[in-house]
Amino acid sequence: MLTIINAFFINLCILFTLFTISFLPFRNRPRLTPQSPLNGRVLLGVQTGLIALLLLGNALPLEGVLIDLRAIPIMIGVLFGGWVSGAVAGVIFLTGRALVVLSTDGAMIGLYLAIATMIVLVGSTSILRRKMNNTRTTLLAFTTISVVIFGAAIYAALPLNLFYPVLIVYTLMSYGGASSSYRLLLELRRHFENVQHQKQLARTDALTGIANRRLLNEAMANLTVEAEEYALILADIDHFKRVNDTYGHDVGDDILRELGMLLVNESDERHLVGRFGGEEFLIVMPHAAREEVSRLAESIREKVSSFPFETSAGTLHITVSLGACHSNDIEIDSVLKHADEALYHAKESGRNRFILAS
Ligand code: GH3
Ligand code: MG
Ligand code: MG
Repeated sequence: MLTIINAFFINLCILFTLFTISFLPFRNRPRLTPQSPLNGRVLLGVQTGLIALLLLGNALPLEGVLIDLRAIPIMIGVLFGGWVSGAVAGVIFLTGRALVVLSTDGAMIGLYLAIATMIVLVGSTSILRRKMNNTRTTLLAFTTISVVIFGAAIYAALPLNLFYPVLIVYTLMSYGGASSSYRLLLELRRHFENVQHQKQLARTDALTGIANRRLLNEAMANLTVEAEEYALILADIDHFKRVNDTYGHDVGDDILRELGMLLVNESDERHLVGRFGGEEFLIVMPHAAREEVSRLAESIREKVSSFPFETSAGTLHITVSLGACHSNDIEIDSVLKHADEALYHAKESGRNRFILAS
């Protein structure tokens, strides 16, 4: 009895370890479904087939029958990738199983049973998967099928005094193993989604929802390597302090949010628009020609000056001053410095201006 429990326990350890590793290629992708691109489903089939084989390698031999938890990875394969993953896993497993028989002079009855049980398992779960969603309940329904199949197979192959203990342990380990494997995969997904979410937050400005200074700095650091010709545009709201003083900070915040959106809408997708700090915004323009920079900056200046900013204090109007620098040879730090100086001159020369550093 202890040997049986031990063999199943080792199977569970293998399952959890390999599921964790197998999950890594899928971590930042949408959850795999039977409608996902074929390569993902085949990969899952290969992974679950190999896991099933490793379980077989640690199976408990009883009267010529190898007993293990192979059904769990196969069922997980069908649950996520449908019949394609199940079929790939089944073929891989059976090939390995046949090699075991041939290389060890094992009993043919074991191989025949393995083929029969695998076909029934993959077939019936694949049909069921078409009607049921990817849920824990579906997996438990699959598990019931696998217990019945397993029970029928070992009933034929094992003497009665072995049949009952093996079936009981198999049943317990199957339900426990299937639901904890499912939980493990769910937790892994949550974990990696969380990491992605945190990454996203770390790059987003909390007030405006557009890129923050960290992301802008990253984009600028990449510029020198990626683009030969590039430009930076700095835009700063004119007399913004007065807006805050007159209408309050919340109204100022409304304007910052709307201006962020306006800048994103005005710019091209290739450009990165972010809040550089306070009421100052930066547009990073890779592969930008000089005329393009002036065109964008002028159009922003004009658009902002006539734009009705809807705030909690009613419709307000503001203007922005812009400074830009275009470069095809100087370092990014100097480009930023020149853009800042141009902005300063735009302010000095009366605001609501755009100046391109020469
Ligand atoms: P200038 O035309 O010279 O740029 O004048 P200004 O008043 O816009 O510039 P100044 O640097 O004197 O003031 C910037 C103001 O921006 C002061 C500060 O309260 C405001 N500000 C900075 N960050 C925020 C913010 O997150 N929300 C709000 N509401 N105001 C902010
Ligand atoms: Mg300002
Ligand atoms: Mg400022």
